[in-house]
Amino acid sequence: MAYTKPKIVILATGGTIAGSIDTSVATTGYTAGVVSADALIQAVPQIKNLAKISTQQIANIDSSNMTDEIQLKLAKEINKLFTSGIDGIVITHGTDTMEETAYFLNLTIKSNKPVVLVGAMRPSTAMSADGPKNLYNAVALAADTLSKDRDVMVAMNDKIQSARGVVKTHCLNVDAFSSPNFGDLGYITDGQVFFCNNITKKTQKKSPFDVSKLTELPKVDILYTYSNDGGAVAAKAFVADGAKGLVIAGSGSGNIHQNQKKVLKELLKEGVNIAISSRVVAGRVVVSKADAKLGFISAEDLNPQKARILLALALTKTNNPKKIQEYFLKY
Ligand code: ASP
Repeated sequence: MAYTKPKIVILATGGTIAGSIDTSVATTGYTAGVVSADALIQAVPQIKNLAKISTQQIANIDSSNMTDEIQLKLAKEINKLFTSGIDGIVITHGTDTMEETAYFLNLTIKSNKPVVLVGAMRPSTAMSADGPKNLYNAVALAADTLSKDRDVMVAMNDKIQSARGVVKTHCLNVDAFSSPNFGDLGYITDGQVFFCNNITKKTQKKSPFDVSKLTELPKVDILYTYSNDGGAVAAKAFVADGAKGLVIAGSGSGNIHQNQKKVLKELLKEGVNIAISSRVVAGRVVVSKADAKLGFISAEDLNPQKARILLALALTKTNNPKKIQEYFLKY
């Protein structure tokens, strides 16, 4: 039987991979999100050997400006594409919030087909830009039959990371991503995919979150813990501004300055849901039995920015902290 190439759609959202500046020496100070999806693939004509490619421009932004609206649009579009015979999706995305969008999609895509996020640390105009090779690898990964039944993935710098585990751990280096709690899922060499780790927290099909009818998400904000946190005014301000949930970037395994904690206990009584994460890069938060009884939720091993995503989605289904805790244990 003749080999038919997999059908892959590239959804472009911007980022440094689509960034540009007038000198090839510059890897900072450029404008992210200016080059179109079609121009991106013109730089890597070899991807047409791997798959039948089509493109869609979903947004063209610096991903530090990512919104719930764009993430919802992506999830809905991907779920739609997977019901129309598409075999895999590649999303070009800025690296700043790539882990957040990856995890959001991990929780909301109702398919076991591959979804791969890719970006670049150097703009498209830079000498030795990393975007073209990363994009080639991402398409190879999305087109590979081994990529089915896995978490949403990130393909950067020849490595494969899972949405659940991946964290941006370097501001500038092309080797910007790692998975401190999980390890790499695998790597890609000259378009060949190798998986060396099957660790995954969830099976995509079991995801309980249905965003098909959502146009917005409950507001959840992140509060940092630090020494000398005087009046804990930020917590009150977030709630006054409409936050339904708070994620605490606690110290150590989820500790909170006593001044801040006093305010948080009052907010719990007002019905605000509070998940405790940690500002430490690896490990897991432990919430004492007494604090759990008050309603504090452990974000487990999710960093604050990913815990924010899960808490917002959880709040679309329930306000009960015990039920929300179950989501954090499961997803
Ligand atoms: N600020 C850029 C962005 O996230 C950084 C990058 O893409 O590497 O869009």
